[in-house]
Amino acid sequence: MSQDVIVVGGGIGGLCAAIAAACDGHRVRVLESGDRLGGKAGIVVIDGVEVDTGPSVLTLPGVFDALLRRAGTSLADEATVFLPSPACRYQFVDSMTIDLFSDREQTRASVQAALGAGAARELDGFLDHARTVWEAAAPWFIYRDAPSFSKVITFGLSGWRDLARIDALRTMDAAIEARVKEPRLRWILRRYATYNGSDPRCAPGTLNCIAHVELGLGVYGVEGGISALVAALARVAARLGVEIETGARVTEIRTQRGRVQGVTLARGANLDARAVIANADARHVLVDLLPKGTRHGLDEEPVPSTSGWVGIVRAKRRADRVPHAVLFPKDYAHEFIDLFDHDRPPVEPTVYLCAQERAHRRTGWADAEPVFVMANAPAEPARGARPSDGGALRANVERRLREADLISPGDTIVWERSATELAAQFPGTRGAIYGGASNDKFAAFRRPPNRVASVPGLYLASGSAHPGGGMPLCALSGVAAARAVDRDLKR
Ligand SMILES: Cc1cc2nc3c(=O)[nH]c(=O)nc-3n(C[C@H](O)[C@H](O)[C@H](O)COP(=O)(O)OP(=O)(O)OC[C@H]3O[C@@H](n4cnc5c(N)ncnc54)[C@H](O)[C@@H]3O)c2cc1C
Repeated sequence: MSQDVIVVGGGIGGLCAAIAAACDGHRVRVLESGDRLGGKAGIVVIDGVEVDTGPSVLTLPGVFDALLRRAGTSLADEATVFLPSPACRYQFVDSMTIDLFSDREQTRASVQAALGAGAARELDGFLDHARTVWEAAAPWFIYRDAPSFSKVITFGLSGWRDLARIDALRTMDAAIEARVKEPRLRWILRRYATYNGSDPRCAPGTLNCIAHVELGLGVYGVEGGISALVAALARVAARLGVEIETGARVTEIRTQRGRVQGVTLARGANLDARAVIANADARHVLVDLLPKGTRHGLDEEPVPSTSGWVGIVRAKRRADRVPHAVLFPKDYAHEFIDLFDHDRPPVEPTVYLCAQERAHRRTGWADAEPVFVMANAPAEPARGARPSDGGALRANVERRLREADLISPGDTIVWERSATELAAQFPGTRGAIYGGASNDKFAAFRRPPNRVASVPGLYLASGSAHPGGGMPLCALSGVAAARAVDRDLKR
């Protein structure tokens, strides 16, 4: 039977697109090539313990709540989210630590205790600025359909006023340096560029709004892990009648006279649909899935965001462990020079840790807890593979964790995934975690929109499409794609 809508991929964007399209009354089928849903929000089971291998920080949970409410339920009904405390501990090579919280007062007090009243005032002022940027930018660049230059002209007076406040003409670094003199705070704030895999030296100052999203709006945990959020989305989709199939790899998006007809599966079946929402990476869709020569008008080779090396440490429980921690190197500037100027993994990597029992109330092993560790790495080359670095990144991460006493003697990395492996698992991505990088002020305008205008019937819903990567943005991508489908199908 022909579907109204086929969703290619069961990642967060795909599941949210399916829910939104089903809420609009369409018959929806999700085809996921992997053996489980969630995509990059994946898991691994190690000695009977389930561990998240992808995202570990949930922000903007209201995005999920709004969608689930359309489906007649709510986030609180489907999952338990909470604010772990502190939000994140930053550790420097001289062993100084600074805890930041999802509560501004607590953050202010903590920064004052660690760095003095002047630094606390600087951060406070910066977070006010970050909130202003967010409030001006989010309605236009996050919650609405993809921006375009022609739309900007029709923004109207309030739109132009907002545009002036989004700080797009300066770089992130320039905006930070103008407001914050304390070097350690500068490092903490620069790091938010890596939340969408970008370079703070050239990403627009608009991205400083991420500091407000995390420290003003909150870093949330999901009881049972991020996989509990994926399970909730899958459950709600199924309740709405969405058919979900795993192990179903799409090999082609079929078109006739330029219009989408349906998809072909690796097992040979042709499925027809009035609309196809692709949750797979846009590059995979444009290069591998559309018939050769299809004129789609989109950039097939966007500059990728960063990738990363990820490990799971089986770690002895310790009282001093916090939900999320960042271990800075001696000189953080080199991280960006290595990644973006030399296109190589950082020689002295910054290491991010997520203690999943504390961050997500997961249950670990009887004698140990799972600690997710991650270091940034460049995406893979557009063609071919990066020559193996012989596990240098893993070795450097492990060395740094031991030197900083963040893991105990006997703790071991029991699972790992390199950037090359991430690229192989998610076709078209080159291992990039957040789609295209935002390394110039026009990046938001180049990101593929959710409706591919030149291929009627084709829609994009993923971190590689508008409004970008990260779980809440992917969810919004799905919602926006479904909105476009609904408009077109009901026209
Ligand atoms: C290590 C890591 C850490 C991260 N940390 C965070 C974080 O802390 N907070 C945060 O918000 N985000 C984080 N992210 C980013 C976040 O996970 C992603 O932005 C988001 O999950 C991507 O969702 P998506 O909708 O783009 O789909 P994806 O997760 O990319 O899923 C796409 C799905 O499509 C399927 N697919 C692809 N091709 C086909 C095909 N031909 N046929 C059928 N199916 C296909 C894939 O198997 C996959 O399941 C992290 C990601 C990683 C990898």
